[in-house]
Amino acid sequence: MSLTVSGNISPHSRRNVTNMLLSHSWKRAGNYYRRNSAKLVFRRPLDVRTPDPIISFTFDDFPRAALLTAGRILQDYGAAGTYYVALGLLGGDSPSGPICVKDDLINLLQQGHELGCHTFAHCHSWNTPSDKFEASVLKNKSVLEELIPGAEFRSISYPISEPRPLTKRNIAQHFSCCRAGGQTFNAGTADLNQLSSFFLEQSRGRIQTVKDLIDRNREELGWLIFATHDVESNPSPYGCTPEFFEQVVQYAAESGARILPVAKALDTIRGVSADVIRQTHRQAETSENRRLPVSN
Ligand SMILES: [Zn+2]
Repeated sequence: MSLTVSGNISPHSRRNVTNMLLSHSWKRAGNYYRRNSAKLVFRRPLDVRTPDPIISFTFDDFPRAALLTAGRILQDYGAAGTYYVALGLLGGDSPSGPICVKDDLINLLQQGHELGCHTFAHCHSWNTPSDKFEASVLKNKSVLEELIPGAEFRSISYPISEPRPLTKRNIAQHFSCCRAGGQTFNAGTADLNQLSSFFLEQSRGRIQTVKDLIDRNREELGWLIFATHDVESNPSPYGCTPEFFEQVVQYAAESGARILPVAKALDTIRGVSADVIRQTHRQAETSENRRLPVSN
């Protein structure tokens, strides 16, 4: 937005416009701070080194259409996704359509998908005080254990916004990894406490933008995490159509990427890193042995 204060306007109007500009600048500065303040602190580095690129598909809020439509498409490609559920919304309605019911949770696990945490009450990740946010995370975990004994959340996605720095620090201990936004992929040294993801609804109808991202993820052997909400013929502003979603899955598969749910992707990356470390140790020992003098 660009505004110029000029012409014959009254001091009162001039003051109003100036106030509006200042308020707009503060808002933008506030948004920037919110988006970026947690990124540099309380990091848990992950070395993303894999022979093949990895792509994960995730769904926030877990509207039923995400499983019934997108889940089936993923299965058609031999893949599975991660569904971030706020159990306080179970069986209710939402801006992205009807939320899942208990049977959907059971079916999802039977089909090989993963469940993830999205707090119990769908707490705003920035506006909610850190202690309340953590209490909601713990409640979501305990309600899941009651609903499906033995089931667990290994990852969380932050609702609505990037987390406060203190929230990021407190929540890290409860999960193997935490997914945020950022509209990019993870490569080189990623942050397990604030993994980047790309929301598909922000590129609806612009498949080339998504394809370019998949190409870059392939070139950099990265971990690209897609996110969205409902997938249906008439999607909400927070979802996309089955046709668009399938185009993305198809291109992802053709890129040679392994399509894995979030926790499995993390296990795979850690397994490869452990192999690399073991191999490096073995090579170091072998060259050390070669240097040792032969004793009689
Ligand atoms: Zn959400």
